[in-house]
Amino acid sequence: MSLAPSTAAPDPAWHPSACILCECNCGVEIRLGGVTGTRFERIRGDKAHPASRGYTCEKALRLDHYQHQPRLTAPLRRRPDGTFEEIDWDTAIREVAARFAAVRDAFGGEAIFYYGGGGQGNHLGGGYSGATLRALGARFRANALSQEKTGEFWVNGRMLGAIVRGDVEHAEVALFVGKNPWQSHGVARARVVLKEIANDPSRSIVVIDPRRTETAELADHHLQVLPGTDAFCLSALVAVIVQEGLVRRPWVDDHTVGAAEVEELFRGIDVAEHSRRCGVPEEQLRAAARRIAAASSVAVFEDLGIQMNRHSTLNSWLEKLIWVLTGNFGVPGGQYVPTPLVSLVRSEGRRSGSAGAESRSPVVGARIIGGLVPCNAIPDEILTDHPARYRAMLVESGNPAHSLADSKRMREALDALDLLVVIDVAMTETARLADYVLPAPTQFEKWEATFFNFDFPHNVFHLRRPVLPAPSNVLPEPEIHARLVEALGAVTDEQLAPLRDAAARGRIAFAEAFFAATAGDPRLAALAPVVLYRTLGPTLPDGAASAALLWGAAHRCALAWPESVRRAGFGGEGLELGEALFDAILASPHGVTFSVDDWGDSFGRVRTPDQRIHLVIPELVTELQGLAAAPPITSPEFPFVLSAGERRSFTANTIIRDPAWRKRDAAGALRVSTGDAAELGVGDGDRLRLITGRGEVEVSVEVDEGMQRGHVALPNGMGLDEPDGRAGVAPNELTDHRHRDPVAGTPWHKSVPARLEPLER
Ligand code: SF4
Repeated sequence: MSLAPSTAAPDPAWHPSACILCECNCGVEIRLGGVTGTRFERIRGDKAHPASRGYTCEKALRLDHYQHQPRLTAPLRRRPDGTFEEIDWDTAIREVAARFAAVRDAFGGEAIFYYGGGGQGNHLGGGYSGATLRALGARFRANALSQEKTGEFWVNGRMLGAIVRGDVEHAEVALFVGKNPWQSHGVARARVVLKEIANDPSRSIVVIDPRRTETAELADHHLQVLPGTDAFCLSALVAVIVQEGLVRRPWVDDHTVGAAEVEELFRGIDVAEHSRRCGVPEEQLRAAARRIAAASSVAVFEDLGIQMNRHSTLNSWLEKLIWVLTGNFGVPGGQYVPTPLVSLVRSEGRRSGSAGAESRSPVVGARIIGGLVPCNAIPDEILTDHPARYRAMLVESGNPAHSLADSKRMREALDALDLLVVIDVAMTETARLADYVLPAPTQFEKWEATFFNFDFPHNVFHLRRPVLPAPSNVLPEPEIHARLVEALGAVTDEQLAPLRDAAARGRIAFAEAFFAATAGDPRLAALAPVVLYRTLGPTLPDGAASAALLWGAAHRCALAWPESVRRAGFGGEGLELGEALFDAILASPHGVTFSVDDWGDSFGRVRTPDQRIHLVIPELVTELQGLAAAPPITSPEFPFVLSAGERRSFTANTIIRDPAWRKRDAAGALRVSTGDAAELGVGDGDRLRLITGRGEVEVSVEVDEGMQRGHVALPNGMGLDEPDGRAGVAPNELTDHRHRDPVAGTPWHKSVPARLEPLER
């Protein structure tokens, strides 16, 4: 595979971009058409994209529904009567800055909370928010990662001090835990890769999932756990590996710390009893464990099925013990530590020592992981008379009123703020509660990128160009943040003038001036994204000012991982290497391979003090020891377990608000097992009442042979509150913010106690 940017003559009728509906961000090409010439007349996979290589799933082909939907076209201010009025940008920026400053001056910057910063396709604009937050002295923030991934981040931090991913594409055994990559992807070219493994008799797929999913259909071992009991299954797998002498020696002794303690712990696990608790026959469990232990390589991918479920952080630890005890790190087809270009979260290394050194949220003391407050703690941080409560919030490319647990409580919290400002494309459920709404271009009208760059050994970054122009009265997020920072008086034109002069002399001159200026002025350094945007940005080609942030990222990457960057084909000494990388990012509309790693590099990226993998996490040992006493999820009042938010063919997050984008299942049916449907006397399309401790809704039924009795599932991203009514059920009208993991605070959306009733009582 060539690592150089594509030099094929571009076809001007096709605009390279990316799908924005999951973290894979497959490269696509879009042909515009229609009466206005702005419709996405055709969309195809981009063969020149170095990661997806022409692959897409069915969702990408429907992106016209995202681009052409009701949207914001001017800044809005809430009137006293609750309605909105349009205002000009100068007024909006001046008033928003003044009102945030008033909160800061009265209560301190820590009273200002930030939510969002990007979804599945848009991280570039949010990268500039740090300057606004630092200008305000704001410190606390959250985003979707802190209701999904922070438990795994915390475990990674404690065990390795680094983010870890699995090389599913080349693994002899692929283990999916609470993940259905056929629908949720997460792996480049997921369906191709799954079929390749399934069709190769020397390779195996192992799936742990309560539903017989599309991926489970392809699996050699489907451990169909009872919903919410993954911890019993995972701990039993570890126990079989330990008890049957399948631990890989001497690898484990050479690379880990704490193996003896962990093995002693798992020698005490009663595999038969754990098998009974999770509902998977013991022989199936043992066969899967033996297959994993015998493989030359095992890649593991855990996802929301366990991360938003009971014992989620414990599950992440157990999952990692499986691949560590079988020696699957730093080898092809195993786990690796990717080269970052831009980190999505702050590193959770072990260097700070004990859990006592971790930061906590100011009111309820929730553990902050990767710099993120647990989403489920946000309402409790606001709905209180505690003096350190959050009093103002900036929401950017996020929709907490719909997407976070317990929407009723979240709306109450947002209503209680002194100030709520939303930056978004559309009038979301959250924007409707705001004091000010600032409109941004769609992801196809601006320079855009995501920081989900986790591939290995070839890692790819894709800076996307605008496919079509934005309406005249919306502003890209970097411009909004630059104006806010300036209105706050945090940076002046005089401070920036020398850097502008240096930029006019060329990028090496700029680099020397920028690094000297920020080294000597920490306040300027804190505003670096906006400083770059205002000084380097105007000099970038094709109006790519929003890419200025990536200049710093390219230099950081080249400085930290020069060999990886050189192996990707970039050269030069000192600053030249970072400049070469940045040039390639700017000049590669189809994406660029920015690093090429060696498998052994992963060992050097383990950030524990002794560079070994630490197996013992005392908090999780304690949780495991108490697992037998875990209470049942169901009760006579709520005999069903609801998975609230299942990914399906036509589900995404809430950025496509037009329900017509779904080719199937427009109403988002509740999946019910054949046995339960028969007992309830319902069939496809019949309606039932679904009741949880927090709400009740009417649902239509889809009878699903893959579901177990007692388990029902609703899709994610449905129930948006549009003028012509809601299509489907908003899952978080049914969830409870108090139901969360004790370590990471991540919600238990996949195991909500529920009951079903006929509509006529
Ligand atoms: S939703 Fe499908 S096409 Fe879009 S990025 Fe994900 S896998 Fe690719």
